[in-house]
Amino acid sequence: MCGIVGYLGKQQAAPILLDGLSKLEYRGYDSAGICVFAENRFCVEKTKGRLSALSELTEVGTTLPGTMGIGHTRWATHGAPSQINSHPHVSTNGKICVVHNGIIENYQSLKSYLMEQGKTFVSETDTEVAANLLELYYEEEGDLLQAAFRARETLVGSYALGILCIDQPDSILAMKKESPLIFGFGEGENFIASDAPAILKYTRKVVYLNNGDMVRFTKDSAVFYNALGEECVREPELITWEMTAAEKGGYPHFMLKEIHEQPKALRDTLHPRMKDGQVCLEGLTLTEDYLRNIRRIYIVACGSAYYVGCVGKYILEKTCRIPVEPVLASEFRYCEPVLGDDTLVIIISQSGETADTLAALRESRSLGARTLAIVNVVGSAISKEADDVIYTWAGPEIAVATTKAYSTQLSVLYLIALYMGKLLGTWVGEAYEQMYRALTQLPEAMEQMLTCDCLKHIEDHAEALCRKHDVFFIGRNTDSATCLEGSLKLKEIAYVHSEAYAAGELKHGPISLIEQDTLVIALATMEALFEKTLSNMEEVKARGAHVLAVTTEETAGKLKKAADRVILVPRTHPLLQPSLSVIPLQIFSYYVALKRGCDVDKPRNLAKSVTVE
Ligand code: GLU
Repeated sequence: MCGIVGYLGKQQAAPILLDGLSKLEYRGYDSAGICVFAENRFCVEKTKGRLSALSELTEVGTTLPGTMGIGHTRWATHGAPSQINSHPHVSTNGKICVVHNGIIENYQSLKSYLMEQGKTFVSETDTEVAANLLELYYEEEGDLLQAAFRARETLVGSYALGILCIDQPDSILAMKKESPLIFGFGEGENFIASDAPAILKYTRKVVYLNNGDMVRFTKDSAVFYNALGEECVREPELITWEMTAAEKGGYPHFMLKEIHEQPKALRDTLHPRMKDGQVCLEGLTLTEDYLRNIRRIYIVACGSAYYVGCVGKYILEKTCRIPVEPVLASEFRYCEPVLGDDTLVIIISQSGETADTLAALRESRSLGARTLAIVNVVGSAISKEADDVIYTWAGPEIAVATTKAYSTQLSVLYLIALYMGKLLGTWVGEAYEQMYRALTQLPEAMEQMLTCDCLKHIEDHAEALCRKHDVFFIGRNTDSATCLEGSLKLKEIAYVHSEAYAAGELKHGPISLIEQDTLVIALATMEALFEKTLSNMEEVKARGAHVLAVTTEETAGKLKKAADRVILVPRTHPLLQPSLSVIPLQIFSYYVALKRGCDVDKPRNLAKSVTVE
C-alpha cells in the first residue's frame, strides 16, 4: 500500500524519486508527491492522480534541482485523495517534512493537543500530525533524533516515515513500525523505499528494517537504532532476483505475465524441497511429537490467501485427519480464538506485511499457539516473527490481483500435507506416493496446459460474456473453494458482481436470483462428485441460466445439454486438481477485465500489499 522512496547522494534526486515511485505503482495509490531539499528550502510538488501527472508537473523532476529528497504515492486512509492531502507534509514552522505510509491511530487526540500548542493544519490527514509532533518535540529537545525517539513513544498505529529537517541538510531520518521500509546501501548515495523494485536499479544491498527501527543516513553513512533506541548493526541482504522479474517482458500486462510464470514459480517452490520421495522442509522445527499433539489447525489469511486456506482445509483434513479451519485474519484477531499449544496456526501472506495477518500472527503467539508462515517476501515482518517460515519462490508479484503467489501458496500446502501426513502415518504408502509423484509433475502439467489450445477459447467466452452483471460460481469440495478465488478475481479486476457458492447450497436461497441468461460458471473437475455438480447445473439451466462449465475431458461427454459453453482442464491427482482448475478462471477474469476496458494491473480502490487494518 502506498510507496515511499528517499534518496541522498550525488545525482539529481527528483528523477530518481519519480523513477522509484513508478516501480511501486503496483502497490496501489491515488496521489503522489515529492520534496527536494536544496539551498536550505523544501521544494514540494504534489498532485492527485497518476504519477505521470507529477512527472509532467515537474518536467520529469527537472524543475526540482537538488541531490536529496523524499517521494510518496498515497493510498488515502484519512482525507480524500486530493492535492492538499497528498504527501509530503510540511510542519507548521516549515522545518520538518515527512512522507508516511500507514495510519496514526491516535491522530485526533494528538491533533487537538498540537493545536493547543499553536500548531496549524492544512490537510485532513493523520500524517500531518506526525510532522507537527516531530516539530514540537524538536523544539523541546533541540535534537531531531531525540525528537523522533519521543515521537515513537507517542504515535500509536503503523508507520513508515521518511523525515527531512531544515537544520539537517546532509541527512535523512527514517523510522518504521508495522509498515514496510527498507534501506539501500549505494556508493556515495543511499536510499530508503517501501519495497525493493524502487531502488533495485541502483543497489542490491538492502536492510529490511525491523519493527521499531530507525535509520539516520547521509550519502556515505548510515546509523541504525533498534526499538530501544540503541545504536545497532543491521546486516544487509543481497537481492538475488533480476529487475526483469519486475518488468513486463513483452506481455501487455503483469497479470498475464504472472499467469504464465506459474509453472516456473511452482517448480522453484516445489523441486528443491522434493528429493527421493521425501519432502524436505528445511529449517522447519515441527517434530513428530508436536504434530501428534495437534488438535486443530487454523489457516489465517486475507483475500486470495484466505481462499488458498479454504482449498487447504480439504487437502490437510484428507491427508492429516486433523480438523482445519480457515479464518479471515481481520476476524480472527478480534474473535477471541480458542488457541493453545495444541493448535498450529498457518499464516499465509504474499507480502509478509499484511497488517491484519501480522496482528493475527501476534495474537496466536501470545496465546501459546505455534505459527507457521507461508510468505513470498524474504525478510518481511511475518517471516521474521513466525516460529517457522516456508517461502514461496514466486519472485516479485506486481499485478495487484494475485496469480502466481496464490498458486505457490497452494503448492506449499501440498508439501505440508505430504510432510505431515507421512509423519503422522495418515498419508502413507500408495496414497502418499501417488500424490508425491503427481506433485513433482504439476509444474509441467501446468506448463502444457498454458500452451494448449483449449485455453485459447477463453478469450472468446470472455468477449461473449463480458457484459453480464451478475455471475455465480458453483462447485463442490475443492472446486467450491476454487470458485471463491475465481469469483474474487472477477470482482477485483473486472468489477463484475459475482458470488461463489458450494453447488449444493444454491437451492437453499441464491437460486432465486437465477434468471434468464444469468451466467453460472460451474466448476466440475472432481470426478467423484461430477454427477452431483451436473445435477446442480441442470437445476440452474432449467431456470434459464447460461452455464459455462469447467471440467475435464473425461467427464465433458456427460455434460450433454447442461452447459452452453465448456472449458476443458487436464486431469491430475484429485487433491492437486485445484492448481489446474483455477487457471481458466484467472484467464477468464483477465479477458473480461480487458474487454470492459479496466486497468487490469492496477484495479480501482485496491492496493497490493494491505498494510493498514
Ligand atoms: N494515512 C495516511 C494518509 O491518509 C497515509 C496513507 C498511505 O499509507 O498512503 O495520508
